[in-house]
Amino acid sequence: MKLSWKNLLLWSLPILVVSFFVWQGLFAPVTNDNNNNVASSRMTYGRFLEYIDMGWVKKVDLYDNGHTAIIEAVGPELGNRIQKIRVELPITAPELITKLKSQGVDLDAHPIKSNTAVWNLIGNLFFPLLLIISLTLLFRRSSNTTGGPGQAMSFGKSKALFQVEAKTGVIFDDVAGIDEAKEEFEEIVTFLKKPEYFTAVGARIPKGVLLIGPPGTGKTLLAKAIAGEANVPFFSISGSEFVEMFVGVGASRVRDLFKKAKENAPCIIFIDEIDAVGRQRGTGIGGGNDEREQTLNQLLTEMDGFEGNTGIIVIAATNRADILDSALLRPGRFDRQVNVDIPDFKGRLEILHVHARNKKIDPKVSLSIIARRTPGFSGADLANLLNEAAILTAKQRKNKITLQEIDQAIDRIIAGMEGTALIDSKSKRLIAYHEIGHAIVGTLVKDHEHVQKVTLIPRGQARGLTWFTPAEDQSLISRSQIKARIMGALGGRVTEEIVFGESEVTTGAGNDLQQVTSMARQMVTRFGMSNIGPLSLENESSNPFLGRGMGNTSEYSDEIAIKIDKQIHDIVEECYKNTVKIIKNNRVIIDKLVDVLIEKETIEGEEFRRIIEQYTKIP
Ligand code: ADP
Ligand code: MG
Ligand code: ZN
Repeated sequence: MKLSWKNLLLWSLPILVVSFFVWQGLFAPVTNDNNNNVASSRMTYGRFLEYIDMGWVKKVDLYDNGHTAIIEAVGPELGNRIQKIRVELPITAPELITKLKSQGVDLDAHPIKSNTAVWNLIGNLFFPLLLIISLTLLFRRSSNTTGGPGQAMSFGKSKALFQVEAKTGVIFDDVAGIDEAKEEFEEIVTFLKKPEYFTAVGARIPKGVLLIGPPGTGKTLLAKAIAGEANVPFFSISGSEFVEMFVGVGASRVRDLFKKAKENAPCIIFIDEIDAVGRQRGTGIGGGNDEREQTLNQLLTEMDGFEGNTGIIVIAATNRADILDSALLRPGRFDRQVNVDIPDFKGRLEILHVHARNKKIDPKVSLSIIARRTPGFSGADLANLLNEAAILTAKQRKNKITLQEIDQAIDRIIAGMEGTALIDSKSKRLIAYHEIGHAIVGTLVKDHEHVQKVTLIPRGQARGLTWFTPAEDQSLISRSQIKARIMGALGGRVTEEIVFGESEVTTGAGNDLQQVTSMARQMVTRFGMSNIGPLSLENESSNPFLGRGMGNTSEYSDEIAIKIDKQIHDIVEECYKNTVKIIKNNRVIIDKLVDVLIEKETIEGEEFRRIIEQYTKIP
């Protein structure tokens, strides 16, 4: 090629363009804002979405054209402290913004500062040079080695982006409370150890197993246990790591991963958060994402490509099987699906036993009491709970974990950090009346859960708290139970009103009223518990791509809408009247209880009931 001016121009243009992007990509996030550097911990995109759904995200700052977010979140896993976490966003997702808005998250985007014209100029001069130098170097090196041009092209290879563990060291005994899933997997272990049993009778071995379940239920742990039991290497990668800026990189990573795995067969390939790549193709606002689709196609091809008997089993995990591409679920791919659910009482007890093994726990502590107090806790929550309790124990220089530390840890995980109690003041009295209001209604209404304790020691956002012993089965709740809950929730505000007068009521009941409204609304629109009849008028969001809440389908006329509002109003009104009655009739007891509460700051459930029983009968 002759080097003319025209040629030079043609060549330098793309380089300039490329260098500009490289420049932005490399330096923009750093020059933007110092905030960026503060966030030392990172979180995957999938986890981030879960955090949003749980309402744990408080603030989101977008950088780097929306590719990076620094979030401020608080959650049980973060020790209930607000922490800054960095999240790489795989795609600039418009639905993310709407989702954040609908959750009321504080959102801010930081543009790349444009006062850096000088820098841009330097960058534009610097990078072409750098590029030319490095390209020359690369070409020289690759022509020196026997590998040919391979080296220059190897940038798409996974730079140790998947982890390999030769021995995971996890065994089935470390996984508790999910027996069905374990049984399913014992078969797979047998296959990895003794494939001939299966091939002798002509059985086709499953290639892929999909683990479905909420976060923290032990999916990763289970996958590791299979590798550990079968004594085979464990290759793992997270779905979000496949999704890259350059089209084709993800696909080449998949290829690479499978290649390495084949060299090491028998082995386990574990793909965490497969929903990041395996989403239904061609959906979502703004159309598909080329890179993701290519990656997914490559994954499908690879899974079809190896024979069932090579000894590779692909295990994938997700908490959202509903959004997976149907091609992934076809036979010959992830044709086995195993649900891993939040453990029940028995499961929790077993998990606690596993995690209590290496802790010094007072023999007087009964793990079953802890299991009973923690419905809804995942395996990870329980592990965290015992760890928190151990930390509290060490802080107090005790040598054994007692029930007291465990109780404190549970409270902390559910409601946040403990604060210091208010000094005696009018607002302390008001809070005391408010909490006693909840507790007494909860005790005197027949179908309400039992009061576990009432306390004036603030935790998290709450300035006082009434704890109820949660019922084991939260999935089947009767109409009278919901009404009882509504009354219990109204108890705080009603007491404030009756004791201090209408003009003195506070904003403290905001949260309670939100719950009241939502319960009443669901009674009418979802559970057919009003005179509109047994109709389901609103579904929970059915379109996961629109973000939760946004896709709420409401297929009814305006007339019905008016009726719904009236029904909700009637339900709340009736509950309110009953609550007022209870509070007025028991004013003497309430005053007495408030005095005790202010003096002691915490009343345990049994003592609470004993005091009430001196005055009236508990149903
Ligand atoms: P997932 O992958 O489902 O989000 P993990 O497997 O990463 O959850 O679980 C996190 C931690 O929680 C585990 O390392 C383990 O300590 C604990 N854990 C979760 N589930 C269980 C379980 N079923 N049995 C024992 N420990 C568990
Ligand atoms: Mg996991
Ligand atoms: Zn309240």
